[in-house]
Amino acid sequence: MYKQAWKKMLEAKHILLVSHVHPDGDTLGSVLGLYDVLKKQKKKVTAYNDAKVLPQIYDFLPHFSSIKCNMPEDVDLVVCCDCGSFDRLKIARSNYEIINIDHHTTNTMFGDINVVNDTFSSAGMVVYELLITNRVNISKECATALYTSVAEDTGFFLYGNVNAMTFFVASKLVSFGANPQEIAHNLKQRESLAKIRLYGHMLSNFELHVQGQIASIVIDKNILSATGANIADTKNSVSMLRNMACVKVAFMLVEKEDGYKVSMRSKDAFDISSIASSFGGGGHKNASGFECEGLDASILKAMIIKKIKKVIE
Ligand code: 5GP
Ligand code: MN
Repeated sequence: MYKQAWKKMLEAKHILLVSHVHPDGDTLGSVLGLYDVLKKQKKKVTAYNDAKVLPQIYDFLPHFSSIKCNMPEDVDLVVCCDCGSFDRLKIARSNYEIINIDHHTTNTMFGDINVVNDTFSSAGMVVYELLITNRVNISKECATALYTSVAEDTGFFLYGNVNAMTFFVASKLVSFGANPQEIAHNLKQRESLAKIRLYGHMLSNFELHVQGQIASIVIDKNILSATGANIADTKNSVSMLRNMACVKVAFMLVEKEDGYKVSMRSKDAFDISSIASSFGGGGHKNASGFECEGLDASILKAMIIKKIKKVIE
């Protein structure tokens, strides 16, 4: 699978590297790590994301400014990283082949080649394995991008998806030039004022349900404009609510133009990925999400709580 995927990339004329909608450090890190090695192989390659403005926190990633929001016409191969389903790519179907590189249990295997390993904590680790299997040189730039993937999707080595392999790959990436302290600083110590104000709102306004086992927060458009935050600033902030001792599952609803983006987080013992799947989304055992149109926040909240109750009982 790894060899077949790399061969296909070397044969392609124009590769589009796609990161998912509402991008995070894993999707961007894995795409930009691949971008670095493919450029060094002199391949014609375009990095793509649907967003016109990307979350600024990732601006330290190598090649970040190369990411385009327009899709070129002559693409013959799409390589996507960290996308559990095709709708996450936000590109039109056309006459190209797809290599689907991912680590989601809920991946729908939509690629012509599916390089999916759900035992890996991040898509960046799948990319690492692909490069090592094919004896591709990993530069400092590539190592920085892939280390960012690993660090972000493990909550900086905190979550249940961390195992010996995670530390092994992280250690290799450091030996190839990734700087853990610098990456931690870039990702964790450069928050916007808007985001900190949003945290303030969340900590003062969350609700508890079912004897404090479930925490929820709704972030509507008014809160976003009052704090100056955008949807990217809400990323992962729901984890804060999971930190409470009594809480088993925390979720947040963020109002978008057309409905709500829902993010859920659970403690290790509680698998919430099937809840997200039941709403048409996906994710992992302890972090999953979906998007929903046409439902009022209070109704949606009640539906989610009902499903979570079944998981925690
Ligand atoms: P987040 O809550 O940070 O947006 O996402 C948590 C996890 O759930 C990530 O692994 C993400 O890929 C997945 N996820 C979030 N929203 C969706 C969605 O709409 N569809 C699918 N398939 N996965 C999602
Ligand atoms: Mn990921």
